[in-house]
Amino acid sequence: MIPFLDLKAQYRSIKEEIDQAVLNTLASSQYVLGAEVSAFEEEFAEYCGAAHGIAVNSGTSALHLALLTAEIGPGDEVITVSNTFVATVAAIDYCGAIAVFVDVDPDTLNMDPTLIESAITERTRAILPVHLHGHPADLDPILEVARRHNLRVIEDACQAHGAEYKGRRVGGIGDLGCFSFYPGKNLGACGEGGMVVTQNQAFANKIRLLRDWGQEKKYHHVFKGYNYRMDGIQGAILRVKLRHLDDWTAARREVAHQYNEQLAGLALRIPTEKPWAKPVYHVYAVRTQERDALQQHLNERGVQTGIHYPIPIHLQKAYADSSCHINRLPICEESSSHLLSLPIYPELSIESIGKINTTLIQHLNLN
Ligand SMILES: *Cc1c(COP(=O)(O)O)cnc(C)c1O
Repeated sequence: MIPFLDLKAQYRSIKEEIDQAVLNTLASSQYVLGAEVSAFEEEFAEYCGAAHGIAVNSGTSALHLALLTAEIGPGDEVITVSNTFVATVAAIDYCGAIAVFVDVDPDTLNMDPTLIESAITERTRAILPVHLHGHPADLDPILEVARRHNLRVIEDACQAHGAEYKGRRVGGIGDLGCFSFYPGKNLGACGEGGMVVTQNQAFANKIRLLRDWGQEKKYHHVFKGYNYRMDGIQGAILRVKLRHLDDWTAARREVAHQYNEQLAGLALRIPTEKPWAKPVYHVYAVRTQERDALQQHLNERGVQTGIHYPIPIHLQKAYADSSCHINRLPICEESSSHLLSLPIYPELSIESIGKINTTLIQHLNLN
């Protein structure tokens, strides 16, 4: 059996370091925020090339606070994409704002910048691109439209820790960048976690207050805030893991290149890398008309796969209300029925990649 994800393999490879970090935090009894979380904020912000990092308890909370800090409120419109994890759109909805979907680029499946301008109305306040599967969205034209219309740009970088756009790591390029440290992400906690990074001191100050009940000091509430704080243990664990992230990213990229080589020339669309991008392959997704049959073939032969994502948000039952505005989304809709994600993680062996490819090619040859 080849699992889609193997968190145990990662833990085994760094067990001593992780165990020690947890034990140290228990001994310090800094269970919520504290020194380890503060140190992780500094280290991760620096890693992203951002001036400030504010740790929170999930990627969803990071998106919610980033939107609130950009002063997104009831009735405002936020331009985003529908082929994303539900949290992107949920965070917009939490602010009482409306998600306005534009279609995606057929190569990267990221926001198509040429479609933004015609989606802008009097109520538009921000643009929220997602760096889907760890490939950066094309930020320069997005920032250019935003500048002309006085809009904020919030990056959903929850799948893209360390991904590079024109040589710069994502997250600190827009006004605010949001990360998730959910266990299965490229940098994952042993539980929930998230962070907002920004170059803007005023935004950072506001988010620091919002994540902790709007308290300037204990029991002095200057904003209506939230309990969105990061656990001390997660901060300590994430500090350890951050030191391994570049090695893990290199290993993921090597897995992707192995797939690319072995799957080239088949009746299958493999992921593209734009010349200006260094993707980090949170997901390695191929596209085929026979997605469901191929998934079944692989599953029956012990290869687990995933689909990211089977139903775009605008077609989800929960978002059939007025919280979304839908433009024509043919590429988003078509890709959702063709995408199939193959196993990818730093510990995936050359033998496993070979077995996956042989099984996959066998199916293509049968059909
Ligand atoms: C994982 C993810 C989120 C949400 O992060 P959580 O930590 O699970 O709340 C948001 N957006 C995208 C694109 C994600 O992949």
